[in-house]
Amino acid sequence: MNARLPIQAVETEYYRLPLEPMGDAGHGAITSEELILVSVRAGGLAGQGYAYTIGRGGRAIQTLIEQDLAPLLLGQDASDVEGLWERLWRALLYVGRGGLLAFAIAALDIALWDLRGLSQGEPLYQVIGGQARAIPAYGSGVDLPKPLDALLQQVEGFLERGFPGVKVKVGRADPREDEARVAAVRRLIGDDRDLMIDANMAWTADEALERGRRLEPFRPFWLEEPTIPEDVPGHARLARELAMPIAVGESLHSVYEFQRYVQERAAGVIQIDPVTNGGITASLRALRLADAAGLATSSHYTDELSAHLLCASRNPIYLEKHAFALDAYLEEPQQVQDGRVRPTEVPGNGLHFSRPRLAPFRG
Ligand SMILES: [Mg+2]
Repeated sequence: MNARLPIQAVETEYYRLPLEPMGDAGHGAITSEELILVSVRAGGLAGQGYAYTIGRGGRAIQTLIEQDLAPLLLGQDASDVEGLWERLWRALLYVGRGGLLAFAIAALDIALWDLRGLSQGEPLYQVIGGQARAIPAYGSGVDLPKPLDALLQQVEGFLERGFPGVKVKVGRADPREDEARVAAVRRLIGDDRDLMIDANMAWTADEALERGRRLEPFRPFWLEEPTIPEDVPGHARLARELAMPIAVGESLHSVYEFQRYVQERAAGVIQIDPVTNGGITASLRALRLADAAGLATSSHYTDELSAHLLCASRNPIYLEKHAFALDAYLEEPQQVQDGRVRPTEVPGNGLHFSRPRLAPFRG
């Protein structure tokens, strides 16, 4: 069978983008973001994809793409996006099934979906079967090291931008500090806005139960990543015993991991991140699992892509506007209007990186 849209070239670029120092309970200090851009060329078009890291692993992702994955794509039909995802996933199964490979496949899969949108003349949300809609957005800090006054200043900034919800990190060594910070944020935002809390896997399930109970009086909208992603039964217990829903997804690197969470009723909110999950293809499957189980959906980082993806979900409650954003490096950053975001309407994913603005950070 002849390929309808044969893939002619795959190109990568590596950047290290500086960040204002930030951190959380699970990943420690975060001072830079690695960005790996991918272009996939076919039929005179170039699809754009990317992967990011929070400072480590990016070179390995680039090498996986260049050495192992790109050769598996050359000459293949670019329009068979899901078939190509399976091809890449299976070919590297022995060293893969998640981890860094998920990020490498993701960059290519994002580019292939973009290419499909470009060749069909349709925006991504349409290509994946979604309906354009305005999705509520929340302001999200990576703020665990911030002193209380700086934390409140950041939250005030979120309120000025009109977000109906805000998220703060928890997981300080002294639980009383978490309580004081969450209480102060609740006082500042009032009762009408939503307050999410995120522990970034800092606790055991037992600790999370105790810490969660201490924070329940401040009515968190959800508790995110209370413990390590491997402890699915622990999450299930927390989901049963705590008043607030449990949210997971950014650390799930395969569809099978999402499947376990859904089957074991271990989360109430499924958060997609098409980079860390293994691509648009993988995040879409996670959304379908959530839909079938009647769960709420949300996103992690990847604001622009997630605005498309959540349009293909039944109950998308929130899109995350993350503390670090790619806005400074995009030709047209995502707009927030009345606390909501919409997917772009141009063909493809609408992500156009500014090479002149990225140039100083190329590695
Ligand atoms: Mg998080």
